[in-house]
Amino acid sequence: MWVSMRFTGVIEIIFNKMLTDDIKKEIENLIKYLNSDYLKRGTKDPKEAAHINSYVFRESGIILEMETGSKVRIDEATLRVKNILTTSLGSKYKIGVRRVVLHKPTIILDNRISISLKIPLIKSIVNDGEHSIIELIELDENDLKKPLFLRLLRLIEDKEQRAKWGGKSEHWILIKKSDRKIMKAYVEDPNDVLERIGWMKRMSIGQWLYTPPLTHMLNALKRLFIDEVIKPLGFEEATFPKMYPLEVGLKTGHLKGVINSMIFASLPRSYDISEFEELIDLMYVLNEVPPEELQKYLRTPSYFLCFAQCEPFYWFFENEILDDNSLPVKWYDYSGPSYRWESGGIHGIERVIEFHRIEVVWLGKPDDVIKIRNNLLERYEYFMDKVLDIEWRMAWVTPWFYEQSGTFQELKENIIEVNRPGTIDFEAWLPYRGEREDNKNWIEMGNISIHGTKFTEAFRIKHNRGETLWTGCSGFGSERWFIVLLAQKGFNIDNWPKKYIEYVKTTPFPKSLNTVTYPKTKDNRELLAKVIDLFKW
Ligand code: ATP
Ligand code: ZN
Ligand code: MG
Repeated sequence: MWVSMRFTGVIEIIFNKMLTDDIKKEIENLIKYLNSDYLKRGTKDPKEAAHINSYVFRESGIILEMETGSKVRIDEATLRVKNILTTSLGSKYKIGVRRVVLHKPTIILDNRISISLKIPLIKSIVNDGEHSIIELIELDENDLKKPLFLRLLRLIEDKEQRAKWGGKSEHWILIKKSDRKIMKAYVEDPNDVLERIGWMKRMSIGQWLYTPPLTHMLNALKRLFIDEVIKPLGFEEATFPKMYPLEVGLKTGHLKGVINSMIFASLPRSYDISEFEELIDLMYVLNEVPPEELQKYLRTPSYFLCFAQCEPFYWFFENEILDDNSLPVKWYDYSGPSYRWESGGIHGIERVIEFHRIEVVWLGKPDDVIKIRNNLLERYEYFMDKVLDIEWRMAWVTPWFYEQSGTFQELKENIIEVNRPGTIDFEAWLPYRGEREDNKNWIEMGNISIHGTKFTEAFRIKHNRGETLWTGCSGFGSERWFIVLLAQKGFNIDNWPKKYIEYVKTTPFPKSLNTVTYPKTKDNRELLAKVIDLFKW
C-alpha cells in the first residue's frame, strides 16, 4: 500500500428546526448505520473508510468528530453524512439541513512533506518528525466539491508518491538486448575527436555549431532513420513550433514535472525602440550587456522552449472531435531543436542544452496505438540490429507518476505486459566510458511511449462516437545515435554499416575547415588530416 493518509475533521450540521428527542433518537440510529455500513462502502479495509468517533447535539444541530482513511475521504464522508440525514429525516420529521461546515479539516501524512503555505485553503502545516499535519481552513459544502480542494489532495498524493520512490524518477526493467557485437572496443571519446578536428565548436554551455562535414553525417543518419523506420510505416512530416505558451506546459504536465530543466522565453516590454534608449546608451559605453539592466526591459516569461517536441501535437487536437476517417493520425517533426537545462550533466554532444531530434507522434484508438507502437518497435530493432549493427538493449521504464494512476504492474516471472501505457527506452553501450557491465557506461539514445489517455484527457481530444483515444510518441535524438555509432565503430569508415555509408556518399562530402588558426593546435590539425584521409573516396 502506498498511501498512508489520514483525515480528521469536525462536522457541524445545522438544521432548520430545533431537534426533538425523537429526532435525536433517529439521528443516533442513523449514526450507527453510517458507522457500520454507509461510511464503509467503497473499500474492503475499514481503516481506509470513514468513522464517526463521537458526537454532541446542539439545540438545532449536531457536531460530529470524524476520522477517515484515503478511500472514503473526509470530503466524501461529510457529504454522505449530510445526505443520509437529509433524506432520512426530511420526509418523516419535516426537517431540513440548513448548513454543513467542516471545521479543522486535517490531513495527517506518514511522511515529512513540505507544501507551499501560499496555497489557498491551507491554514497551517506542522512536521513533527514522523508526520506532516496539514490543517485546512474551514470548508462548507460548496468548498468540498470545488476543484481547488480536489487538486490540493491530488498534489499531496503526488508528493507522497514521489517521496515513496525515494528520488528515483523511474523503474527500469530490461526487455531485450542484442548480441555482444563489439570484440575490440574503440576507446576514444568521439566527442573529443570531433571537437579537436574542428568539425564542431562550442558556442556556449551545451550548445555547438556543427560545421558542414558533421552536419552532413548527422543528416545522413536522420535520413537513414526516416527511410528505414518511419516512412515505411506511413508517418508523414509536419512542422511544429519550437516555443510554446505556458498553458500548454501546464496541460502536458511538464511545467509541474520538469520545470527545473526547462528554458523560458520573454518578450520585450515595448516595441518602441526609443524606450530602450537608456539601455542602448549603456551598451555603447560599457561595451557589455548588463543582464540585470536588460531584465528591466523584458516582460515576465510567457513561453518555454521546445522540451518534449510532441507538445504541439496534443495542443493541435485540443477540443477536436475525430472520426474513423481521420484516424489514426501519424506524423513526425524534425523542424528544429529541443532545449533542456542539464545543469552539470553536460558532455560533448551527448548531453547538450540544444539538441536535435526526430519526434514521431501518433493518435488513435487504443488497439491502433498499440499496434503502431509495436510496428515501430520492430523497425527500431531492425534499425539497430541490421542497419546500424550496434550493441543495444531496450528496457521498460515506468516513471513514478504512472504507478499511482494504477497502470504500474509488478514484474511477474520476468514477463512484463508491454501492450499498455508506458515507455520503452533504447540504450547503447559507450565503450569509451568503460565496461559494458556497468550501467553508467550506457546511454539512452531514444524511446517510445504509449501515453494512454494522459494527453487526450488533458486536451479533451474526442472521438465522434465516444470511443477512447490514446496517443503515443517516440524521440530519436540524432546527436545521441550518432555518438553511439562513432563510439562503437570508431572513425574508420571501413567499420561502418554499409547502408549508412551509402547515405553519407549520396552527396559530395563537404570540405573540413582548415585555416591559419583553426583547428587550434598542431596536434589537432594532424588529427584532422588523418580523418580527412579516411573520408577520401
Ligand atoms: P536521459 O535520461 O539520458 O537524460 P531523458 O530520459 O531525459 O534522457 P527523454 O526525455 O526521454 O530523455 O528524451 C527523448 C530523447 O531525446 C532521448 O532519448 C535522447 O535521444 C534525446 N535527449 C534528451 N535529452 C538530451 C540532451 N540533453 N542532449 C541530447 N539529446 C537528448
Ligand atoms: Zn514525445
Ligand atoms: Mg534527461
